[in-house]
Formats: sequence, structure tokens, C-alpha cells
Amino acid sequence: MNMPVPPIEVLEQHLIDPEICIRCNTCEETCPIDAITHDENNYVVKADVCNGCRACVSPCPTGAIDNWRTVLKLEAYSIDEQFRWDELPAQKPIGDIAAAAGTLETDAAAVLDAPRAAVELETDPQSLVRGAQVPPWSAAKPYVNLYAHKAPVTATVVGNYGLTDEASDNDVHHIVLDFGAMPFPVLEGQSIGILAPGTTADGKPHHARQYSIASPRNGERPGYNNLSLTVKRVTRDHDGNLAEGVCSNYLCDLKKGDTVTVIGPFGSTFLMPNHPNSHLLMICTGTGSAPMRAMTEYRRRRRLEGATGKLMLFFGARTKEELPYFGPLTKLPKDFIDTNLAFSRTPGQPKRYVQDAMRERAADVARLLKDEQTYIYVCGLRGMEDGVLQALQEIAESHGLDWSGLWGRLKREGRLHLETY
Ligand code: NAP
Repeated sequence: MNMPVPPIEVLEQHLIDPEICIRCNTCEETCPIDAITHDENNYVVKADVCNGCRACVSPCPTGAIDNWRTVLKLEAYSIDEQFRWDELPAQKPIGDIAAAAGTLETDAAAVLDAPRAAVELETDPQSLVRGAQVPPWSAAKPYVNLYAHKAPVTATVVGNYGLTDEASDNDVHHIVLDFGAMPFPVLEGQSIGILAPGTTADGKPHHARQYSIASPRNGERPGYNNLSLTVKRVTRDHDGNLAEGVCSNYLCDLKKGDTVTVIGPFGSTFLMPNHPNSHLLMICTGTGSAPMRAMTEYRRRRRLEGATGKLMLFFGARTKEELPYFGPLTKLPKDFIDTNLAFSRTPGQPKRYVQDAMRERAADVARLLKDEQTYIYVCGLRGMEDGVLQALQEIAESHGLDWSGLWGRLKREGRLHLETY
């Protein structure tokens, strides 16, 4: 007797392009079902875990995440194969896959469409992510990926200034890069990738390291084709062992006139609104202040042109000596920006985080939450994200707002942006 032949399944396999990926970890952190992992070489997707929900697609700053190959399920690329890739494999002819799956008599195109359509209907990515996946309605249109690993651009260092007190443990630098005649249009909230010279222990070039732009769209100096970065020298790894950061040390040691290899720009959602009555509620720690500096400075320049929206900033650091831009920040007029600093390691003082400062200013934060012109930005340590969202929830609920409804609306309307590492 003939046994029924089990159907050969076709899979729309989710893959990450190793040539464009800047290894920022956003996809791994966003994936709600832990289908993404990485080694020291690549970020990869587990074919047997990924359900194609696409929650990771929009937060990816480069678009490297949005790659799909139609394969026979039995022949799906394993994560070990993906770890070894330097580039994505080409799509095998769909006709061959259809033939192997026994569907030649149907339309080969149906093989390509069916699996993706099935997963798209199942999950609303909005419900899986914590921040907005769209920019504010009035944001300017960003350029992304103008320069990639294979064709980077060279910038010249025109400034490198220490931002933190020499006596502090933290060494943070403000680095200004000039692009000369090369186009490098950016917006506040975007980032760039730096390719450090040299190679890894196994002789491969270093992967790009990502840094947020700390200057406004019209230049660190208005009218110049330059931008600035906020870079902290890394001297320890995540476990606290002594380890020199490959790119951060390279950048902090650069001298005026040195050249740097740059890719990017990246990022199309963590962008500021452009309508003049929009309010910015900015919450950051340490070097996460880079995009807040860019937005604040842009609004300071625009203020002269009639921007009326409010700016409220919560900024956390260990001590005042370690807070980047402490001097210039505290000199900004109070009627321009409402600045609230939180220091966690001031000798003799209790630990204070940004979320503690937010609770102290609950009435004013609630007023902003109630205003539909408010746009919220959170940038810095990953650990702060839970605490800040919790503080926002408490403040909203204690002032008569339904947080879950508001949270959904903030995400849909591009009014809550999270960038934490
Ligand atoms: P940091 O100096 O290590 O820390 C800043 C402050 O955050 C400290 O006071 C710290 O307190 C506090 N903190 C720790 N856990 C917290 C929590 N759960 N909630 C609230 N506050 C908390 O900061 P950093 O080294 O500059 O790091 C900033 C982060 O921003 C990094 O993860 C970096 O990757 C990221 N970032 C950088 C850029 C850039 O362009 N350079 C851009 C975007 C994001 P204690 O340590 O005293 O507990």
C-alpha cells in the first residue's frame, strides 16, 4: 500500500545582511520571542523560532534586518552557517523550490507569497514593541545608508574636547568631524558608524561602531558640513574586567587633522518633530545625552524663528563631574529648557536616578503627557528603560490618564522614542 507522502514545506526565512548590519543589538533586544542571537561575527535569526512577526524590522537603524529568502524548510540556513557569512546568499530560483516542494503545477509565485502573507496576518508588531516605529508626523525626511562598509566616506577631525572633569573616572569626549565637500546630510536623533582601523584577532576588519550625532542638522557650527559625537572611553567590558574599547579609545585619542572612516547615516524614526508648538520631553543618562544635545541645540537655533513648544530634560549621571555638557547645559535659560539633573553617586547623598527626578516633577510631566503636542525621547543605559516607563505609567495614572491607551497612542503617533543600549 502506498503511504501518503508528507508535504514538503516552504519557508520564508528571515535573515540579517552581515554587510549592512552595524551590530547595534537592537533587533536582538526587540525580538519578543528570542529568535535573534549573535556571536562576535554576526547577528543571526533562528529559523525554527522566528515567526516572522517583523517587530524587529522597523527599529533596525540600517535595514539590514529586512532580508528574506524562500527556502525549503528542511534546507533552512542554520545559525552556524549564518555566523560564518560575510554576505547573504542569493535567492535560489523559486521555480526549483516550487518543483522540490511538488507545487510545480501551481504557480511558483504562490510559493513565494504564501508563507509571508500568513505571518503578516497573525501579529500586530505594534503590540510587541515598547516605543514608536514611526517618526513624528512633522519630522524631516532622513537620508539613510548613503555610505556602506564597501564604500565609506572619510571625515577629518576638526575638534576633540574632553567633556568630563579630569579627576573623574569617566573620560567622555566631544569629537567634531568634518566631511569637506562630501555630502553627509543628517538629522538630530540619527547615528553614524565608525570603522576603526586594524583587525580583530582572526584578521578580519572591525565591525562598525555606532554613535549618535550630538549636533543639529545644520552642523556643529551652523553652515558647516560637520557633526559632533559624544564618546566615552571604554576601559572595562560588561563583566567589569579591564578591556579597551576598540573604537571608543581610537576616537578619544584622535588629534585635529586625523581622518576617520564613516558609514551611515542611520535611523529613520528617532527624529524630532518640526512643528514649532511641539514639546520635547527628553530623558537620558550619560552619553545617551548626544541626541538630546542635538535636538536642544536645533530648537535653540530655531527659537529665534518662533518655536514655542516646551523643552523638559531629565539627565542622569553618576556625579556632576561626570555629566557630559554640564557647564553649557546649566547656562541655558530656564524659560528655554526645564533641566532636571539626577546624580547617583554624589558622596554623602542618596542615589538618585532620572525616574526619581521625574516623580518629583510629576505634575509638570503629567501636564506634558496630557498634551497631544508632546514627544518623548529616552536614550542611554538599557537598564533605565523599565524604570522610566514605570515612572511614566505611575505619573499618568496618578493624574487620571489611562496609561495603556496613552502608551498605544504615543507609539502609533510617533511620540515615544526609546534608544537604549
Ligand atoms: P553611565 O555614566 O554609566 O550612567 C549614567 C547614569 O545612569 C548613572 O548615574 C547610573 O547610575 C544611572 N543608571 C544605572 N542604572 C540605571 C537605571 N536602571 N535607571 C536609571 N538610571 C540608571 O552612562 P554611560 O556609560 O555614559 O552610558 C550611557 C548609555 O548610553 C550607554 O549604554 C551607551 O551605549 C548609550 N548610548 C550612547 C550613545 C553615544 O552616542 N555615545 C548614544 C545612545 C546611547 P549608577 O551607575 O550609579 O547606578
